[in-house]
Amino acid sequence: MKTKSEAHFATQAIHAGYKVKQGQGSLTPPIHISSTYAFDTVEQGADAFQGENDRFIYARLGSPSQQILEQRLSLLEQAEAALATASGMGAISATMWSLVKPGDEIIADLSLYGCTFSYLEHGLKSFGVKITYLNLSNPKNLTDHISEQTKLVYSETPSNPNMRLIDIKALSEITNQYDCKLMIDNTYCTPYLQNPLVLGADLVVHSATKYLGGHGDLIAGFVAGSQDDIDHIRMFGLKDMTGAVISGFDVSLLLRGLKTLHVRMDRHCENAKKVADFLHQSSYVKNTFYPGLENFPQRTLAAKQMRNTGGMIAFELNANREQSAQFVNNLKMILCAVSLGDAETLIQHPASMTHSTYTEEELLAHLISPTLIRLSVGLEHVEDIIADLNQAFQSVFSASADDFPDKGLAISA
Ligand SMILES: *Cc1c(COP(=O)(O)O)cnc(C)c1O
Repeated sequence: MKTKSEAHFATQAIHAGYKVKQGQGSLTPPIHISSTYAFDTVEQGADAFQGENDRFIYARLGSPSQQILEQRLSLLEQAEAALATASGMGAISATMWSLVKPGDEIIADLSLYGCTFSYLEHGLKSFGVKITYLNLSNPKNLTDHISEQTKLVYSETPSNPNMRLIDIKALSEITNQYDCKLMIDNTYCTPYLQNPLVLGADLVVHSATKYLGGHGDLIAGFVAGSQDDIDHIRMFGLKDMTGAVISGFDVSLLLRGLKTLHVRMDRHCENAKKVADFLHQSSYVKNTFYPGLENFPQRTLAAKQMRNTGGMIAFELNANREQSAQFVNNLKMILCAVSLGDAETLIQHPASMTHSTYTEEELLAHLISPTLIRLSVGLEHVEDIIADLNQAFQSVFSASADDFPDKGLAISA
């Protein structure tokens, strides 16, 4: 079912899906903003509606620029097909609406992006879909629970916000024994670092708002998988259920972002490794969760399914919730903001912000510590990122220069 193209990732990210002669020689693909497409005859229109020609019909079903983007994204994820949407949530909801009906069960991992949790818990559940949360880091939990009722298994890896990994191949070996699809949110890794479909998943979704766009100037998403699944999600989940259509302008920004994805990801990973080392060595930090650290519990799995360890870090200070918030407030360059994958380093406190729809009990049940801090390491000079973290530690813990550990700065290149 998977297609593999000859060219390397970097080349695909720049060229796939577009030939300059399609755009009368323009290097950058044209932006199509037309809402509707005209036919020569009624008969030609009728054929288009029957899927018997490849004419565009109406922008909710696709446009020429969206098609370029979708071809590029499907090649990067090594999928047969892809569908771009107005947001990551647009991709997740269009996909799930298309795959389940009342009485079916979705099994999701314990740790999820906040709005995905809300969509399952407050959305699909109220429409009669059974939602079960399991710790999918241990595949045995899935084996013990899965049944004929289970139509979808859903996970992020690494998970947001606490950086737990799940073994995509191991889960796919279980879901393959049932009439059940495995759907992976690959936002944290991007297709540059991990290809869930190649590892055995049936569907992969992304918030393209994050690393794929990469510049904090758009909201978009996509889902990739088999041609049949993507056709169904486009013609039902997107067209009739969510209507979350990507605009031509965002298509253009996203195509631009993709051209530098591989270059940016290399630097995100390089910076994050140094920042994670700094945090890990600091006496003010209790736990640092980053797949590139020697003591990361799932390091072997990371090496097996990820090509590099990414730009996201989670950590807990040796401090209470109030001091943790104070630490974030005292940062000078690093910005307190949700979202991730931008050039700017962004930090946030999930229990107060992205995961604030969780009750205290839900936070605990879903393995999100109330003092956890999430850091999206940006593309600034790594010494400046570390220096800012360093000064914020000092201001919170009011350490004197003497007893402040300076090992952090020593590790920066
Ligand atoms: C941001 C995010 C989403 C939602 O994407 P939007 O583009 O904001 O709708 C889903 N999953 C993960 C892991 C995310 O980080």
